[in-house]
Amino acid sequence: MYLEGKHAIVTGGGTGIGLAIARALVAEGAKVTITGRRLEVLEDVAEDGMFPMVMDVTDEAQVRDVTAAAVEARGPVQVCVANAGIAEGRKLHKTDGAFWRKIMATNLDGCFYTVRESLRSMLDTDWGRVIAVSSIAGIKGSAGAGAYSASKHGVIGMMRSFGEDFLGQPYTFNSICPGYVDTPIVERNTASIAERTGASSEEARGMMVDVNRHKRLIRPEEIAAAALWLCNPLSESVNGTEIHIGGGQF
Ligand code: NDP
Repeated sequence: MYLEGKHAIVTGGGTGIGLAIARALVAEGAKVTITGRRLEVLEDVAEDGMFPMVMDVTDEAQVRDVTAAAVEARGPVQVCVANAGIAEGRKLHKTDGAFWRKIMATNLDGCFYTVRESLRSMLDTDWGRVIAVSSIAGIKGSAGAGAYSASKHGVIGMMRSFGEDFLGQPYTFNSICPGYVDTPIVERNTASIAERTGASSEEARGMMVDVNRHKRLIRPEEIAAAALWLCNPLSESVNGTEIHIGGGQF
C-alpha cells in the first residue's frame, strides 16, 4: 500500500477514466478527493476513502478555494490527477472564438489551475506525483477536433515543462494519452457522429472501435493502471513525458 494515508485529488473523478483512477488510488491506500461540477454524481459513486467536492476547473478562484479546503481536511496533496475535460469537435470553418475558448478553458486552463493549486501544498512534502490526462489527439492531429487537439497538445507541453522546472526534486509530472476509452465521452461522441453522418449508433461506435487497432474500446481500468504505476516508487525516473495508451493508434 504505497499510497497509504496520502491525499490525492482527481478532477472529473465521478465518471469514466477519473473514477477508475480514483478507485485504483483508494485501493492502494490513498484518501482521494474526487471533484466535478455535479455533486450528485460524485456522491453516487463515492466509496470509502473518496471525498466528493464540487469544483469547476474553469473557475480559478474556485479551484484555489476548493483545493485549500481539501488540503485543510486531508493534508497536502501528494497525487494530483488533472483529468477533467470535454471532447467536442468542430471543423475549422465552424469553430468560432466562443467554442475555441470553451475547450481551452476546461482542458488547458483547468489543467493549469488544478496542478498549480495542488502544487502549493505538495511542495511542503518530500514526494509528489502530477498526472495529466491528455489524449492521443495531444500527439497527433485529429480530424474535426482542432481545438480539442490543440488543448491536449498544450497539456503535454505543460507537463514536460513542469517536469523540467522541478528536475532533481522528488516530484514528477507526466501525461497519459489514451485512444478511445469506453466512457461517457465516447457515448456522447457516438451520438454526435451518428447525428452528423446519419450512421446508426452501432455504426458510429464501430468507427471508434476501428480506429483502435485492437478493434475494441480501451477500458478505463487500463488508463488507471498506468496512473497507478506513475505513483509507484519504481517509476520515479519517469518525468516530463507521456505514456501512450492508444490501442495501437500511434
Ligand atoms: P467523462 O465525460 O466521463 O469525464 C469527464 C469528466 O470531467 C467528468 O467527470 C466531468 O464531470 C468533468 N468535467 C468536465 N468539465 C468540467 C469542468 N468544467 N469542471 C470540472 N469537471 C469537469 O469522460 P472521460 O472519462 O473519457 O474523460 C476524462 C478525460 O480523458 C478527459 O480529459 C478526456 O479528454 C480524456 N480522454 C478521453 C478519451 C476517451 O476516449 N474517453 C480519450 C482521450 C482522452 P462533470 O460533468 O460532473 O463536471
